[in-house]
Amino acid sequence: MAPFHAHFKNINGDDTYPLDEIIYRSKVDNSLLEVHHDRTALASRSPEEWKKLFAERRMSFKPADMSGIWSKREMVLPEIPEEDIVTMQEGFSPLFDASRLAKELGIRKLHVKLCGNSHTGSFKDLGMTVLVSQVNHILKKGKHPIDAVACASTGDTSAALSAYCAKAGIPSIVFLPAGKTSTAQLIQPISNGSIVLALDTDFDGCMKIVQQVTADNRIYLANSMNSLRVEGQKTISPEICQQLNWNVPDTIIIPGGNLGNVSALAKGFDDCLAMGLINKKPRIIVAQAANANPFYQAYQRGFDKLEPVQAKKTLASAIQIGNPVSYPKAERAIKNYNGVVVEVSEQELADAAHRADKIGLYCCPHTGVALGALEKLIADKTISSDEEVVVISTAHGLKFTEFKVAYHEGSLEGLTSRYANPIFKAPAELGAVMDILKKEMAARR
Ligand SMILES: *Cc1c(COP(=O)(O)O)cnc(C)c1O
Repeated sequence: MAPFHAHFKNINGDDTYPLDEIIYRSKVDNSLLEVHHDRTALASRSPEEWKKLFAERRMSFKPADMSGIWSKREMVLPEIPEEDIVTMQEGFSPLFDASRLAKELGIRKLHVKLCGNSHTGSFKDLGMTVLVSQVNHILKKGKHPIDAVACASTGDTSAALSAYCAKAGIPSIVFLPAGKTSTAQLIQPISNGSIVLALDTDFDGCMKIVQQVTADNRIYLANSMNSLRVEGQKTISPEICQQLNWNVPDTIIIPGGNLGNVSALAKGFDDCLAMGLINKKPRIIVAQAANANPFYQAYQRGFDKLEPVQAKKTLASAIQIGNPVSYPKAERAIKNYNGVVVEVSEQELADAAHRADKIGLYCCPHTGVALGALEKLIADKTISSDEEVVVISTAHGLKFTEFKVAYHEGSLEGLTSRYANPIFKAPAELGAVMDILKKEMAARR
């Protein structure tokens, strides 16, 4: 018998299901499921042994070891055969030292965890490698027939699903809200050969359809309601600690939409604590766009219950979600991690993203939401000057070229571009060029 074991478990009950069953919600009360690990088995290895093993794998060229997710496979999917894993060496993303911004903002330390530095350009790869690997495993065992894997997406989930399925040779289907994704996000699943449907609705509308399409289990559901994805995404937490030499930051800020990723972050820290890898909890802060803020509103009401909203248009299009599926898990995460929920305006997110670009980052609008929250929380002293903070950057800025061009052109509707950097047009003559250089270099001194 394998020394380590995991199964699905109801978050509100005791019913459990094997990981190779096709199931997304409890059969007892329809609650969300989570992957429940045998933590006693995990704790049977000492923290020092785990840390040594993780460090050794960092030097290995074995496919599973080169992935940030699968290098921690005992705490992800302990029983999957390594040959069934579908990996693109995801994870092990940089923890960017943003000390110049920390100094400007007046805090001790700031790091930006660049989860978008990944094959398809967002953190969605971290969860998708786990989900597609498990589907691959189920197919190889011939236990259940699966014709295709499908998701509803605000853009990044579909790109990740499409790429991992293409690598494994599994058909994929993606539902996108028409006209609400960036060009890069739309072209990714098209390139990787998915069946791409652009529906005349928003994300929440796509989510309803995909649940109907996947109801008979012939088409497998890849949304974050599927708790396998959380297992990959949760490795962000041990990875941050590992990168900080197994120290725990004081505060972590993460942008939230469907709220799967904040749930994952908290679960990652739960596991690290249970394994003795860390002995302190960070504070977890969720940042939402004010235009799509059902979680912020619920927090303001003391988490009485989720009141779904009609999400309004936001530059942070990946979190334009009014009815977040992982609400119960995210509520638990905020309560267990001394958390706060913050909302950020369009002006604040756009400025925060481009302010951070000035120290060498290249931020997507969602990272701007988290950075905007950071500025607000420093201003109101919720975050104090002696803290070490990690901001989770969820996607690569290169996926959001339209946003960045419009900001620097000053053409974002209703917004001003405080950190715009204009292009200087000049004839190819030394005099004209030197005039501009003298003026601009003086201005930047
Ligand atoms: C999916 C996504 C989010 C939101 O993550 P949730 O798990 O839905 O809260 C934030 N930023 C980007 C870039 C994303 O793709």
